[in-house]
Amino acid sequence: MVIYLDNNATTKVDEEVLEEMLPYLKDEYANPSSMYEFSVKSSNAIADARNKMKDFVGAKSEKEIIFTSCGSESANTAIRGAVAHNKSKKHIITTKVEHPCVMNTYKSLEKQGYRIDYIGVNSNGELDIEELKEKITEDTALVSVMWANNETGVIFPVKEIGEIIKSKNPNTLFFVDAVQAAGKIEMNVKDSNIDLLGVSGHKFHAPKGIGALYVKSSVILPPLITGGHQERGYRAGTENVPYIVGMGKAAELAIDGLKYESTEVKRLRDKLETGILKTTYNSRLNSSITNRVPNTTNIGFEYIEGELILLHLSDLGICASSGSACTSGSLEPSHVLRAMGTPFTSLHGSIRFSLSRYTTEKEIDYVLEKLPRVIDDIIRISPYQEELEHLRKARG
Ligand code: PLP
Repeated sequence: MVIYLDNNATTKVDEEVLEEMLPYLKDEYANPSSMYEFSVKSSNAIADARNKMKDFVGAKSEKEIIFTSCGSESANTAIRGAVAHNKSKKHIITTKVEHPCVMNTYKSLEKQGYRIDYIGVNSNGELDIEELKEKITEDTALVSVMWANNETGVIFPVKEIGEIIKSKNPNTLFFVDAVQAAGKIEMNVKDSNIDLLGVSGHKFHAPKGIGALYVKSSVILPPLITGGHQERGYRAGTENVPYIVGMGKAAELAIDGLKYESTEVKRLRDKLETGILKTTYNSRLNSSITNRVPNTTNIGFEYIEGELILLHLSDLGICASSGSACTSGSLEPSHVLRAMGTPFTSLHGSIRFSLSRYTTEKEIDYVLEKLPRVIDDIIRISPYQEELEHLRKARG
């Protein structure tokens, strides 16, 4: 039995997505660039998927969609392309809580002489918009923020940020990493002054290994991969037809499923969250209650180790994820939670549960039944007995 509550890491491929892909993995294997009749179905399928991706992100034209291999490639193409587009400008603004594919790209640009401002967040994970506004200058080549945070689910006010950027400097480009927003909330690049936006198929029930980048028609980027003329020269390499088709179908299903995300998925997430906070006295919510994607909750368990919780949950068939990443053998607390000023008492004991449209009430009930016992067992072996007792009396 697997109870999968790690949908921000990756998602199950939808059956309808798989069905749509299968012909292109079997009989329709033609190279879409070929001249014969046999390739027409493949090239039409790509055109159809591009159109669906256009609707998914709210672009004006399907010409503004480039297929990539993943969210990381979309972010790299966007960021490196944006600074090449604005090559006389040497200043970039981003946030302290970006995904490593964005963060590490900026670290490498810093080494090349770019000046980067990393904007902070408050204890709810919300962005300091005033700070961002103040930092925009004539020299700002790019502002880059994520739409929703992968660890906490906190949503940044992208529309407001887009307006601020363009009112302060219309030549500054705006890149949005929408990998965790896609399929969870409505996206509309047209309404938000977004120039570049990246998504990744495997976060919304398409397979791993396919992504997309929206590039506003007025923005000209140099290609990250040079070679043939595919993707209008932006991204050489024979198109991954079955995966492109799959992501197109997943995008179509995601648009239809947005209502379900904001009602039923949210209801189950809220049930899980309130249940845990009620039954475990050492727990606290690590994010804004309201400004969040509907599927994510990140809960800190004070004075105990997150890795231990995950191992116990795994024994029960429950998949979740910790806020910490293992860096060269030492357990580094999450940069997101640190940026939020999360107290050290729960920094190492934070767990992210992320649901999907496949999550059932029965699964949530099972987690709520099992988790308090798991936490109690780990509390019993914690070296912080006095502090825990203090907490229990205060909250319990
Ligand atoms: N951006 C965010 C916010 C993510 O959560 C992820 C993956 O977890 C990525 C980018 C990278 O996506 P991919 O795994 O497709 O490269």
